[in-house]
Amino acid sequence: MNFSLENITRENVKGLKPYSSARDEYVSDGSDMVFLDANENPFENGVNRYPDPQQRSLKAVLAEQRGVKKENVLLGNGSDEVLDLLFRAFCEPKEDNIISLPPTYGMYNVLSGINCIENREVLLTKDFKPNVEAILKTIDANSKLVFICSPNNPTGNSFSEDTITQLLHSFNGLVVIDEAYIDFSPNESWASKLNNFPNLMVTQTLSKAYGMAGIRLGICMASEEIIAVLNKIKPPYNVNGLTQQKALERVLDTKAVGAEVATILEERTKLIKALQEVSFIETIYQSDANFILVKVDDANKRYKQLLDKGIVIRNRSTQPLCQNTLRFTVGTTDEHQKLIETLKYIENEY
Ligand SMILES: *Cc1c(COP(=O)(O)O)cnc(C)c1O
Repeated sequence: MNFSLENITRENVKGLKPYSSARDEYVSDGSDMVFLDANENPFENGVNRYPDPQQRSLKAVLAEQRGVKKENVLLGNGSDEVLDLLFRAFCEPKEDNIISLPPTYGMYNVLSGINCIENREVLLTKDFKPNVEAILKTIDANSKLVFICSPNNPTGNSFSEDTITQLLHSFNGLVVIDEAYIDFSPNESWASKLNNFPNLMVTQTLSKAYGMAGIRLGICMASEEIIAVLNKIKPPYNVNGLTQQKALERVLDTKAVGAEVATILEERTKLIKALQEVSFIETIYQSDANFILVKVDDANKRYKQLLDKGIVIRNRSTQPLCQNTLRFTVGTTDEHQKLIETLKYIENEY
């Protein structure tokens, strides 16, 4: 590996200085100060002040919980914003390319389109594993990012440590491991290995296990140097005050989050058992996430039948290697009861 941050950073970004906001220049230490610096409305209503642009309180807790330094962390308006920042920092439009491994999360392709960056897709193998040989053949001098989603959406499986290590060793760009579903997985986060690999980046989110999709909070972890580059281009107030406050309360309540994750894992096991009894489900794929991918006889038909009965799932059939697949998010006992009843009903419908 011959990774150099200098080599992968766009020329225009190298020269940038971050926008210095009023709240960057003076940070309140809680003492009684008069703030006449940011043209805010002075009448208190809970949100009349600009939020902390570096989200210091929230970041300190998240960093500690993940065993990294706060300088290794950047927070975003969902992990989707973090992923977009990567394109803007490292990928020169119409010149550079990224590597993604379909079937996988759709945003990598959407963001490459928005940013005018070629997305070189290297399909997973039939058993949904990265094809390392093909990936290495596809990489060239303009390949800046490889997106590894593990556990992978929509397939649900995790990729082996060996495979990911091999990519980290052989790629001169950034290896981005999207760990949106890591809290449902028995595997350890790659965040603990940041010091071993200068080209490793890990992204997480509060949208899934933490139950906070509505507030939009994404977490990005990488070397201090990489985070410093991203800090130069992030919008100054990208994480709003209400989000910072809600997120802090939630991440401190580790008991509640842990209990919900445990319940979801129990429900996943029960749902798999129930799905095994449905005659038109041919394969149930192993899952390390809070969803289950299944192969059915006719995905379009089954999808419509469920929709007609008021149950919304995801038809993943248009994805490569996913013909006739449906994705079920793990829900509550009641939701599963309704789902299973409906599956049994449509089994006999026609
Ligand atoms: C849901 C999901 C995300 C979450 O994105 P947010 O913008 O943080 O809500 C990220 N990556 C993958 C693979 C996902 O499935």
